[in-house]
Amino acid sequence: MNTAIIGGGAAGFFLAIELKRIMPEMNVTIFERGKKALSKVEISGGGRCNCTNSFQQVKDLKQVYPRGANLLKRLFKQFGPKDAYMWFEKHGVPLVTQEDQCVFPEAQDSHAIINCFMQEAHKYGVKIIYNYKVQGDEPRIETHIIENKDGTKVLDNSFLINGTSFNYLVITTGGIGSDIESGPLTSIKQCILTPVPSLFTFSIKDKALQGLMGTVVENAMTAIPGTKFKSDGPLLITHWGMSGPAILKLSSHAARYLNENNYKSVLSINWTGERNTDSIKEYLEELIINNKQKLLTSYRPFNLQQRLWEYLVSKLGKQCKWGELGKKDINKLVDILTNDKYDIAGRYAFKDEFVTCGGVSLDTINKNTMESKDIANMFFAGEVLDIDGITGGFNFQAAWSTAYAAAHGIYSKAQISK
Ligand SMILES: Cc1cc2nc3c(=O)[nH]c(=O)nc-3n(C[C@H](O)[C@H](O)[C@H](O)COP(=O)(O)OP(=O)(O)OC[C@H]3O[C@@H](n4cnc5c(N)ncnc54)[C@H](O)[C@@H]3O)c2cc1C
Repeated sequence: MNTAIIGGGAAGFFLAIELKRIMPEMNVTIFERGKKALSKVEISGGGRCNCTNSFQQVKDLKQVYPRGANLLKRLFKQFGPKDAYMWFEKHGVPLVTQEDQCVFPEAQDSHAIINCFMQEAHKYGVKIIYNYKVQGDEPRIETHIIENKDGTKVLDNSFLINGTSFNYLVITTGGIGSDIESGPLTSIKQCILTPVPSLFTFSIKDKALQGLMGTVVENAMTAIPGTKFKSDGPLLITHWGMSGPAILKLSSHAARYLNENNYKSVLSINWTGERNTDSIKEYLEELIINNKQKLLTSYRPFNLQQRLWEYLVSKLGKQCKWGELGKKDINKLVDILTNDKYDIAGRYAFKDEFVTCGGVSLDTINKNTMESKDIANMFFAGEVLDIDGITGGFNFQAAWSTAYAAAHGIYSKAQISK
C-alpha cells in the first residue's frame, strides 16, 4: 500500500512520520514543489519556530482559532498541545515555554525541528520528491470497486501522480498559494472557501498618529464598530499605522469581513483597557478634583505615554487646566479615550507573516479522520483546511493535530480494506 502526500511542509512531514510509525509497511512519498522542504518552518517565529503553545491562557479555543475551534477541540483529545510538546522532547528537540506561553525549541532555532523531521523521515524511509509541483491533470483520480475484508463491495479511489498509483492521497499544500485552478485541489474546487489573508497590520493614513511611531499601549481594546469583531492586548503605533497583538488578533477575527470591504473600514480604539465608561468618568472627575490647577497634558491618566496623551488631548480641541473641564469636555474626553476612531486604509503584512483564512471547508471532511466526504481516500491536513489561528504557535499546533488525525484516518481505512 502507498500514500502520496502533496506538500513537504509542517503538516506533510509530521503526517508522513506518524503514518510510518503506526504503519511501517505503508510506502509514503512526499511531493514538494520547492527545491527544499519545510521552508516556512525555517522562517517561522523569526527563525526560532514557535511550534506550539501551552494553551494555559486560553479559556476558549475560539479566542485563538477564529476558524476551526470546534474541530480542534475534538482533535486535541487525540493529539493536543501536551502531546506535541512530548513528541518533540521525545524526538530529541527539547522545548522551552516562554512567559507568554509560546513554546520554542530550547536551541532557539527552527533547524532543531527541521533536522528532527528530516532524520525521522529518513529513518522511516519516507520518499521525498523535490521540485515536483503537482498540477494540471494530477492527481488523476481512478475509481474502481474493491472487496472489503468482510466481503462487502465498495467504490474506491486511487490517485495517479508521476506514473505511480497511490491508494491514499493527502493534500498538505498550505494556505494562500495553494492552487485551486490547476493544482491538486481542482477536483474539490466546490469545497473550497475562498482563501484570504489573516494576521496583518493596519495601514492608517494619519500623519499625527504615525508621528507617535514606537508608542506601545500595554492593554488596548480594538473593535470594528457595527460588527462583532473586537480584540484586546498590546498595541503598537508604527510608521504605517497600527500593529501589535490587539491589531493582529482583530485582523484574524475579521479577516473575511475586511477582505470583503477591500481592507477599508473604521477602527475603534479604547486606549484605557477599561470597559466601563462610568468608572472612567468617575476616575476623570477624581483627577479633576485633585489636579485643578494642573494643565491637562501635565497629568497622564491610565499611564498613557506622554506623546500619546498629548495627541489625544489635541483631539479635545482645547488646551486647558483639569479644573476647567466642563461636563461636555469630560464626555468628549471619555469618548476619545474609549472610542477613538480611525479609518483603516489598507492591509500591511506583519514581518511577512500571514496565515490563510479559508481553504477546504470543514463541512466537507470527516471530522475524525480529515478524509474528504466526496472523494474517498483523499485526506487533508494543515493550513489547506479552513482552520487558522492567531500568532503564538497556534497554527503549527493545528498542523500537528490535523496531520495526526489524517495519519490515523488512513491507518483505520487501511485496516478495513486490507
Ligand atoms: C513568516 C511566517 C512565520 C510564521 N511563524 C509561525 C510561528 O512561529 N508559529 C506558528 O504556529 N505558525 C507560524 N506561521 C504559520 C505556519 O507557518 C503555517 O501555519 C504552517 O506552516 C502551515 O503548515 P502546512 O504544512 O499546512 O503548510 P506549509 O508549511 O505552507 O507547507 C506547504 C508545502 O506545500 C508545498 N506545495 C504547495 N503546493 C504544492 C503543489 N501543488 N505540489 C507540491 N508541493 C506543493 C509548498 O511548497 C510547501 O512546502 C508563520 C507563517 C509565516 C508566513
